[in-house]
Amino acid sequence: MPEPSNSSTKDSNPLPPGMIIGPDGKPCKICTAFRNWKPAADTSKSKAQSAKATGAVFSTLAFGTQKSTVAPVEEDARPTHCPPDVEQLGRSTWTFLHTTAAYYPERPTPNQRANMLGLIHALPVLYPCSHCASHLGEVVKQHPPDVSGRLGLSRWFCERHNDVNERLGKEKFNCAIAKLDERWKDGPAD
Ligand code: FAD
Repeated sequence: MPEPSNSSTKDSNPLPPGMIIGPDGKPCKICTAFRNWKPAADTSKSKAQSAKATGAVFSTLAFGTQKSTVAPVEEDARPTHCPPDVEQLGRSTWTFLHTTAAYYPERPTPNQRANMLGLIHALPVLYPCSHCASHLGEVVKQHPPDVSGRLGLSRWFCERHNDVNERLGKEKFNCAIAKLDERWKDGPAD
C-alpha cells in the first residue's frame, strides 16, 4: 500500500498542499480533511462567496482541474450535503466502534466473539480512507483484538484510537473503563 502523498501534480494545476493522493494516484477526498480539499486561501472573498466557490472546487477537483484562488471555508460553514471527509468519517466510525464495545456482552458467546473479530478484521480491508486502513491493519497485527468481553474490547478500541491520536498529535484518552463508560454509555454523573 503506497504511503499517502500530498505532493502536487506535475502540471500547472498544483493540488492543494494537504490533499492526499489515493492508491489509484488520484486525489483522495475521503483520505483528506475537508479544509484541504481546496487550494490556498484568497481572503479577499466573502464567506458566502467562499461557500459557493468551494462547491465549484469540489466538483472540479474530481476531474483534476481545480482552480487556485478560492477562499477557505470554515468547518461549521461546510454544506450538509457534502460527502464525509476523513474527520467526519473517523468521528462517526469511532462513535460506532466505541459504542458497540460499550454494549458488547461481559461474557460474549463464541458467535458474538467471532462476529466482533470479523468486524475488526474487515476494517483494514474495507475502510474507505486507504492510508487509515493500512495503518490500522499494521496495528491490528501488532495488537491482536481482545474480544473476550466488553471491558477488554472497550480498552482495546480505546488504545487503538489512542494510536491514531498519537500519530495525529492529539491528546490521548484515559482508557479506564469508568471514563470510557462515561463517554460512550452512561454520560456524566448529574
Ligand atoms: P475523534 O478522534 O474522531 O474522536 C471522537 C471522540 O472520541 C472524541 O471527541 C473523544 O470524546 C473520544 N475519544 C478520543 N480518543 C478516544 C479514545 N482513545 N478512546 C475512546 N474515546 C476517545 N485520520 C487521519 O487523519 N489519519 C489516519 O491515519 C486516521 N486513521 C483512522 C483510523 C481509524 C480506524 C478511524 C476510525 C479513524 C481514523 N482517522 C484518521 C480519523 C481520526 O481518528 C479522527 O476521527 C478525526 O481526525 C476526527 O478527530 P476528532 O478530533 O474530531 O475526534
